[in-house]
Amino acid sequence: MVGNDGDDCVGTNEKKIKVKNMKYFSIREMTKSTTAIKRNIDNSPSKEVERSLTALVEKVLDPLREAYGKPIIVTSGYRCPRLNKVVGGAVSSQHVKGEAADIKSVQDTPEENKKLFDLIVKLKLPFDQLINEHNYDWVHVSFGARHRRQKLKAVNKNGRTTYINI
Ligand SMILES: [Zn+2]
Repeated sequence: MVGNDGDDCVGTNEKKIKVKNMKYFSIREMTKSTTAIKRNIDNSPSKEVERSLTALVEKVLDPLREAYGKPIIVTSGYRCPRLNKVVGGAVSSQHVKGEAADIKSVQDTPEENKKLFDLIVKLKLPFDQLINEHNYDWVHVSFGARHRRQKLKAVNKNGRTTYINI
């Protein structure tokens, strides 16, 4: 069946786009936001942000997903500055750089979300910050230039979110 592969006939003069090595996640999944759609905010990533998201998936999310064996839901990945502001994210949030993801187990129980947190630690994945958000309502994990390996717990104190080292 030589020559039956339609792809060979398309764009032969163009350089092949480097194949990303993401296995379980996609850039689309890492950038989609219902808030952005509702507010008509363009949350498209820059090339730099795409690179950061890819690194986060390759280094942390894919190995985690592989070990967990069940789907992981990304509730928030990249947030452009405007979207970040609308959702009340910190100005310095790693979400703005495409270096962080908020994740949940497909089963979405505190017990299962805790398993994700514990697996990230157990597998020695190279995270920068790992946060148990509000009793494992979700897990925030980041990967970037820094490797602080900070483990934190977010709790509400007088209506404000406070982070405690754990
Ligand atoms: Zn987050």
